[in-house]
Amino acid sequence: MKAIVIIGGGLAGLICAIRLNRKGFRVTLIEKKHYPFHRVCGEYISNEVLPFLKSLEIDLGIYEPSRITQLAISSVSGKLFETSLDLGGFGLSRFALDNFLYQKASREGVNFMLGEKVTNVSFRDNQFEITLPNQIINAELVIGSFGKRSNLDAKLDREFFHKRSPYLGVKYHVRTDFPIDRIQLDIFEGGYCGIVKIEADRYCLCYLSENKHLKKYGDLSAMEENILFKNRRIEYYFKNSDFVYDKSEVINEVSFENKSLVQDHILFCGDAAGMITPLCGNGMAIAIHSAKILTDAILVCSDVSSTGQRNKLEWIYTKNWHKQFAYRLATGRMIQRVFGSKKITDFALGGLSRSQRLSNYLISKTHGELF
Ligand SMILES: Cc1cc2nc3c(=O)[nH]c(=O)nc-3n(C[C@H](O)[C@H](O)[C@H](O)COP(=O)(O)OP(=O)(O)OC[C@H]3O[C@@H](n4cnc5c(N)ncnc54)[C@H](O)[C@@H]3O)c2cc1C
Repeated sequence: MKAIVIIGGGLAGLICAIRLNRKGFRVTLIEKKHYPFHRVCGEYISNEVLPFLKSLEIDLGIYEPSRITQLAISSVSGKLFETSLDLGGFGLSRFALDNFLYQKASREGVNFMLGEKVTNVSFRDNQFEITLPNQIINAELVIGSFGKRSNLDAKLDREFFHKRSPYLGVKYHVRTDFPIDRIQLDIFEGGYCGIVKIEADRYCLCYLSENKHLKKYGDLSAMEENILFKNRRIEYYFKNSDFVYDKSEVINEVSFENKSLVQDHILFCGDAAGMITPLCGNGMAIAIHSAKILTDAILVCSDVSSTGQRNKLEWIYTKNWHKQFAYRLATGRMIQRVFGSKKITDFALGGLSRSQRLSNYLISKTHGELF
């Protein structure tokens, strides 16, 4: 049984753990937090993941997730673009989803080290050494699924880490009056706010904004009042919703830069390999799909006893990842640049409203197909 250490227990890490454990690997997943916990995420999941989840016997029906079939995008000046989503998706909190996968993986025998933060990973004599505050463990393979930005990115001196990102993300759960089958993105200066129904009577209200606004206004509520509320739809949700928790979830330095897929033989997966802009709404599907591509490659090339074999595994994973995601991430970056400026957003939404073909094209270029 080969020892695999997975660092980070978000969707990418948990799916890798479930799959590799079932195939007979000795899997240890190290996660710095304790489940269940909240994360900044818009909590809309593209239906492209459903066949793969079904193949893993992952059935989320107990949560009765919302079924999303409609998309709307609004601009600061009040323009509204509406369309049906061919494939659609569902809404489910990360609190519920990640905890469900953790419980399943744990029952099936994955070894979890929770509340433990990896501080370093090194590779010597065809073996990894994974450093934790109180111990060192060894493994033949290491998967880095530690998300968009981690202490390990700094430690490994990854190139993207040195480029500052202007974005921060904020999430609330609310009870409100909003269509249960729709995801809506309301654009404001330099960012956008998404609203979607999740499980029970809750909605996820999540936005991506620019750090400069927070610096200027000093705190979240002043920034929301002065920047987000210029889009009257956002103001309406904020003022006509019950906020379920006292505190929001906040993350800084959300970066969409290109990232390496392999470094020092660590195989990166999910956001650690590359993050699509939330405007495209399918980072979670990409995290799950990249876990499939990586575990497929590991299953084909599980013999890493020589440098040649290990290089072959890394080559196959890199090739298949690029084939599936490189273009989608690049299109996402392009779209991210278009939205944000009032004039350009109005122009773009006008164009989308006039041309169903253009909107279908953009949605298809940023979304994947069923896998
Ligand atoms: C504002 C915003 C809105 C979004 N909205 C959506 C949406 O609506 N739909 C969608 O599909 N996607 C959305 N996304 C993207 C989505 O959240 C991510 O793509 C997805 O969470 C990636 O999963 P992951 O497993 O790669 O990483 P994560 O879920 O971030 O998991 C990484 C894990 O690694 C752990 N970790 C980090 N460092 C260490 C360490 N040193 N030791 C141990 N553990 C460590 C962390 O605690 C974390 O649990 C959004 C993102 C943002 C920022």
